[in-house]
Amino acid sequence: MRYISTRGHAPVRDFAGVLLAGLAEDGGLYVPETWPHFSPADWRALRGLPYHALAAHLIQPFVGDAIETARLAALCRDAYAGFGHPAVVPLVQLDTGLCVQELFHGPTLSFKDMALQLLGRLFDHVLAARDTRVTIVGATSGDTGSAAIEACAGRERIDVAFLHPHNRISDVQRRQMTTVAAPNIANIAIEGTFDDCQDLVKAMFADAPFRQELQLSAMNSINWARIAAQVPYYAAAALALGAPDREVAFSVPTGNFGNVLAAWVVRRMGLPVARLIVGSNRNDILSRFLQSNDMSIAPVEPSLSPSMDIQISSNFERLLFELMDRDAAATGATMREFRRAGRMHVLDAVWHRCRTLFHGFRLDDAGIEATIARVHETTGYLADPHTAVGIAAAEAHLPARGVMTVAMATAHPAKFPDAIERVIGKRPHLPPRLGDLVDQPEHLTVLPNDLPAVEAQVRALARRNA
Ligand SMILES: *Cc1c(COP(=O)(O)O)cnc(C)c1O
Repeated sequence: MRYISTRGHAPVRDFAGVLLAGLAEDGGLYVPETWPHFSPADWRALRGLPYHALAAHLIQPFVGDAIETARLAALCRDAYAGFGHPAVVPLVQLDTGLCVQELFHGPTLSFKDMALQLLGRLFDHVLAARDTRVTIVGATSGDTGSAAIEACAGRERIDVAFLHPHNRISDVQRRQMTTVAAPNIANIAIEGTFDDCQDLVKAMFADAPFRQELQLSAMNSINWARIAAQVPYYAAAALALGAPDREVAFSVPTGNFGNVLAAWVVRRMGLPVARLIVGSNRNDILSRFLQSNDMSIAPVEPSLSPSMDIQISSNFERLLFELMDRDAAATGATMREFRRAGRMHVLDAVWHRCRTLFHGFRLDDAGIEATIARVHETTGYLADPHTAVGIAAAEAHLPARGVMTVAMATAHPAKFPDAIERVIGKRPHLPPRLGDLVDQPEHLTVLPNDLPAVEAQVRALARRNA
């Protein structure tokens, strides 16, 4: 499988090249040159496989011959072996037409583990084969950092520096990152927002000598391999609910648009997905776009679902590229104008095409609390604040009777104990394997929103381990 950039001016790469490169050199995002497609009979043959085997089967076409099939299968088996549920991604029914799919049974209790547990192993494999090493830099609004750090701690060929917005992520989220004591990990708290952190990461990638010197690479959701690794759980849910012979819908609490993009990909691969519901919190740029074709950037406001406190959803560019019939020049021009003017308005035809599949929904903090309380009262199910957005969005946009909607449960409620306690009066318990977080020393450096200071810190980490 070959990969091209959404902006058309970066070298074509194979899966291993895209895995290590992260962002394309022209500022675009890598996408597969062609989409794999499975027939209904192919899909039926995949029913009932253990999750790791389904994952290997569906990721294989994206990997192509960059990694041997048997090796990929072994990496998938290993990646999901440590999950806390035998089904890995269990479904729980909440109502006649509504399920949640729990994506939080990995080591850091968010859906980010689904992709990153595999990516850490893919990196290791590819770097060893090439006898080289990389420095992973990334921005996290909470869950990516801990999942990437957990997936890479102690690995020989990878250094990891993660930026997070100082004092804007939950205590549990911060401690999950900062209590990992491995020499190849650096936590940097930036005095700014998540978008500031993301801009600093982009600036490091744009600094060619720095990028080259440190062999920079990314594990955040602009990395295509992450999207590929998120495709299998949509297929697992759909197959369990009768696809390809029955339609399903998905509701996804959305930030950077990576998770819901994977749902779009599974549809592109041939599964009957009737609709995709994009849930936003008070940072509602995507739901505003889906309502009125106006994607205008507003300041990021902290919310009860911090992993969705994002204004610029990087992965949207991949969808835009498809909606524009893969016209890289038009995609690049639209994205550059978006960054310059702070707003995007696409051609009516493009917007209507988007609207036939995607529905937007916004839920503010009061709505999040009310949803957690109501779902808990009526079903006994305890949803975290992100999952609550997906559930409320699903309820607002239920498709025709007979089509099951699956709301993605993206985090374990115990990651957000303060919000949960306010609503139900009890603190949820962390699973025992995370129980001792509070007693361990934290490792982090607080820095201003300043590129040279951040680069110096990352360079020090890489030098130490070179
Ligand atoms: C990252 C994250 C999201 C948003 O996912 P995107 O792929 O960025 O849209 C939602 N919920 C939780 C708990 C997350 O960690």
